[in-house]
Amino acid sequence: MRIGIIGAGQLGQMLGFAAHDLNASCRYIDPSDDPPAAVCGKVIQASYDDPVALVALAETCDVITYEFENVPVTALQHIEGITPIYPPARALQHAQDRLAEKLLFDELEIPLPGYHAVDSREDLDAAAEKLGLPMVVKTRRMGYDGKGQFVVKDIGQLDAAWAALGTQSLVAEQFVPFDYEVSCIGVRRVSGDTAIYPLSRNVHVEGILHSARSPVDAPELTAKASDYMHRLLDHLDYVGVLALELFVVGKDLRANEFAPRVHNSGHWSIEGSETSQFENHLRAILDLPLGSTASKGYAGMVNLIGHISPATRALGVGVLHDYGKTSRPGRKLGHVTVVADSEEQCDALVEIIDKTVTQSRKPGETTT
Ligand code: AMP
Repeated sequence: MRIGIIGAGQLGQMLGFAAHDLNASCRYIDPSDDPPAAVCGKVIQASYDDPVALVALAETCDVITYEFENVPVTALQHIEGITPIYPPARALQHAQDRLAEKLLFDELEIPLPGYHAVDSREDLDAAAEKLGLPMVVKTRRMGYDGKGQFVVKDIGQLDAAWAALGTQSLVAEQFVPFDYEVSCIGVRRVSGDTAIYPLSRNVHVEGILHSARSPVDAPELTAKASDYMHRLLDHLDYVGVLALELFVVGKDLRANEFAPRVHNSGHWSIEGSETSQFENHLRAILDLPLGSTASKGYAGMVNLIGHISPATRALGVGVLHDYGKTSRPGRKLGHVTVVADSEEQCDALVEIIDKTVTQSRKPGETTT
């Protein structure tokens, strides 16, 4: 079997490694020169919406998938008739537009922060009036890792928020004073079987995922998140891995967003689960039996952002994944995963990694 992947970054690379274990091969489309996934298979160097490249990929692969959610939907529609494409385009359509995503959460009765669509300066005033402050103003499209966002803390900042983002369609949402953040990763195969991973507890720094730990000892929250995940998977007639990010507020959850792809907050599953999210994504789209999502222990993952220092390489704790990318501030270059026998041990190991990674950051370098 050959899998066509739109995008050849680190997610494509980790999918490629998983494909190898399933005796499948991968072929990619990516505009960059030497992307991380080039070590796993042939890369057609072209833009993601290049019609000639897309047809070439579709005609030479048994199934097509993608590694990031900003693939133009029209690009997928262009090749739909040639080869099956998973996850389905309608999931992508919702995930690409924060307003459509929130309307879907509402329709499926998945709780979420209050929100208000903003297309004019007057709408922004109305949003502040309706939602109260602080509120977070986000671009509807192309936002990721906290980019395209403005936290409005007082009325005096409305002008600045509008000046920063007002050229695009926006959505304002209540600022959630969350206890912590979690993600729920689910997977559904072509024939409809589903599986869900234990929750992951995530820490973001300046909008970028910094670390993730799983499982989370919170049975009530796990049951609620699984219920929401099932609603999404079934409603979208979904195929592949889906990641749902949620805020925890007491015993309740509020949905933030979902990603129709393998997700950074699930990287720990390579070492920490019976079957990784990458293998299960491939199993789902190839309609193979899904593998167990049971944990092998307490897993922790720390992202390596901007720079991988010699001290980090010399750590000798956990498994270091180096995506082979050139250093650049804010760029996800790799991650380290540990698997421990207890939550305490996992926390202690994550702290050691965290300290080494943070202290060895180049002077003046932040995560963004
Ligand atoms: P996003 O790109 O929407 O995932 O936002 C990136 C991060 O910003 C989230 O993981 C949160 O840490 C924070 N954030 C986003 N929206 C909100 C909100 N409504 N209330 C509080 N924090 C938020």
